[in-house]
Amino acid sequence: MFVLFLLLVSLQNQATDAEKKISWTLTRDSNFNFRAAHWADLYRILHNSLPSDIVLWGHFFLSFGVSNDKASVFVKCRVLESGNTVDIVGDLLIAADGCLSNIRKAFLPDFMLRYSGYCAWRGVLDFSSDEHDASIRDLKKAYPDLGKCLYFDLSSGSHSVFYELLHNRMNWIWYVNQPEPEVKGNSVTMKVSSDMIRRMHEEAEKVWSPELARIMKETREPFLNVIYDADPLKQLFWDNVVLIGDAAHPTTPHGLRSTNMSILDAAVLGKCLQKWGLENLHSALEEYQSIRLPVVSKQVLHSRRLGRIKQGLNLADRQPFDPTTADPEECEELQQKNMPFFTDVPSTLRDGQLFSARVTE
Ligand SMILES: Cc1cc2nc3c(=O)[nH]c(=O)nc-3n(C[C@H](O)[C@H](O)[C@H](O)COP(=O)(O)OP(=O)(O)OC[C@H]3O[C@@H](n4cnc5c(N)ncnc54)[C@H](O)[C@@H]3O)c2cc1C
Repeated sequence: MFVLFLLLVSLQNQATDAEKKISWTLTRDSNFNFRAAHWADLYRILHNSLPSDIVLWGHFFLSFGVSNDKASVFVKCRVLESGNTVDIVGDLLIAADGCLSNIRKAFLPDFMLRYSGYCAWRGVLDFSSDEHDASIRDLKKAYPDLGKCLYFDLSSGSHSVFYELLHNRMNWIWYVNQPEPEVKGNSVTMKVSSDMIRRMHEEAEKVWSPELARIMKETREPFLNVIYDADPLKQLFWDNVVLIGDAAHPTTPHGLRSTNMSILDAAVLGKCLQKWGLENLHSALEEYQSIRLPVVSKQVLHSRRLGRIKQGLNLADRQPFDPTTADPEECEELQQKNMPFFTDVPSTLRDGQLFSARVTE
């Protein structure tokens, strides 16, 4: 059997004093019970469970139109290999084209993403060769529960998160406050120069424990994500076009569950379509929206708040959070389990067919 997830039993928020290089625990949740998976593993298992001809690789979506009687949707795509344009006709267009969704733009041309105030350096260190043995040994000495615990390190005005993935990989993310960078093209991932990487390494040595900074330094090809979200939408479908995933709810990643939100959207939508059938498409989409919109709206706003707290940014109702002086009551706000609908399984899915795992990548 192919094992996909690594079970993260616990989660620890800890403070790091950059100057003294000491750390202490702020909160610990010993019943965290998340599963950590690498993107590629998750995609592989999803792809393998689909009929083999259902994913059309190398097709770039260009535009769509809805027929006058609203019974079908026409999609125009460019086939990347040949450069040819093809038309595809369907009953329903499910827009899963991410936070910059072009399909959403067709209905909401003025809808804007909100820059969070920070970007995230990210990387996965593959330590399957012995080249990284010493660094991993030291890291595991400093963070002894790695492998079954997800760690957040908080410094004044910054935080990082890191955890082990299956097959000897260490995943890390470091959030850095900065003015909104200019991003070229239709992507939230920025091209980074070797100079930017060098400066990130130097900064990491000043901010994080030597063990974590070394992991960041040894990671090949770290990259930078610009972090956006958006105020919750008022609707998720128009005629026979429906939004799911980040297209429906661009979110900051602090709930550690945005992929899970996308998967739940897809699962609920599937159940609603199955229940109502094509002849009642509108009812199916209504039900999907009524189940998912209240949930994802609250989760997006909670994630926004959590990110601002952890980055020491201003909020209207509290002082900026400083991990080096925070009292236990303040630290309680850091707990992942405060996320609205944290353990909720939508009622449409409570029939034993659903896995209720929360997904982190
Ligand atoms: C720093 C960071 C950390 C994160 N950490 C976590 C975490 O710990 N746990 C978690 O669950 N989530 C996390 N996420 C969030 C997660 O990455 C997203 O929520 C998730 O990928 C959304 O899935 P999606 O399928 O809706 O959108 P996407 O993954 O963005 O997929 C959209 C797809 O549409 C394709 N597409 C777009 N336009 C076109 C077009 N015109 N033609 C053809 N294809 C097109 C894109 O190529 C892409 O493949 C994190 C995100 C960031 C930035």
